[in-house]
Amino acid sequence: MKTPMTFKTHMDQALTEARAAALRGEVPVGAVVVSPLGEVIAAAGNRTRELKDPTAHAEVLAIRAACAELGQERLTGCDLYVTLEPCPMCAAAISNARIQRLYYGAADPKSGGVAQGPRVFSHAQCHHKPEVYDGLAEAEAQALLLDFFAAKR
Ligand SMILES: [Zn+2]
Repeated sequence: MKTPMTFKTHMDQALTEARAAALRGEVPVGAVVVSPLGEVIAAAGNRTRELKDPTAHAEVLAIRAACAELGQERLTGCDLYVTLEPCPMCAAAISNARIQRLYYGAADPKSGGVAQGPRVFSHAQCHHKPEVYDGLAEAEAQALLLDFFAAKR
C-alpha cells in the first residue's frame, strides 16, 4: 500500500497566471500542470489575443508546455489546476493528455464543458476520464473574471 501524499493545492499559481493574463488584456484564466511527484511542470495563462490563436487557452498551453518539457505526448499521472471550468476543447485535450486529476475553480455556465453543456467526460466516446474536483478558490477565480469583464464595459 502506498503512503497517501499530503494534498497541496497549486491553485494559487493558477490564479497568478490568470492575473498575469488579465494584465495582458486576455481573459483571466490560468492553468498549472503538476507531476505525479507534486512538481510544477508547466504553467500558463490565456494568450488567444497575443498569439492570434483561438486554441491558445491556458489549459492547452500548459499541456503543450508540459509535454514539451517531458518529451512525451501524454501526461499520465499528472494533475491539472485551472481557475475556470474547462471548455469542451480543453476538456477533450485534458482527456487526450491522460491527466489524472482535474482541479478547477469557478463554474462556467457560458462556455463550460465539464459539469454542464457537453459534459465531455461523460461521453462513451471519451476514453479517459480524469477525477474532477471543482470549486477550488472559486470566489477568487470568479472575482477576477467579473472584474475583467466589468472593466471592458
Ligand atoms: Zn478552453
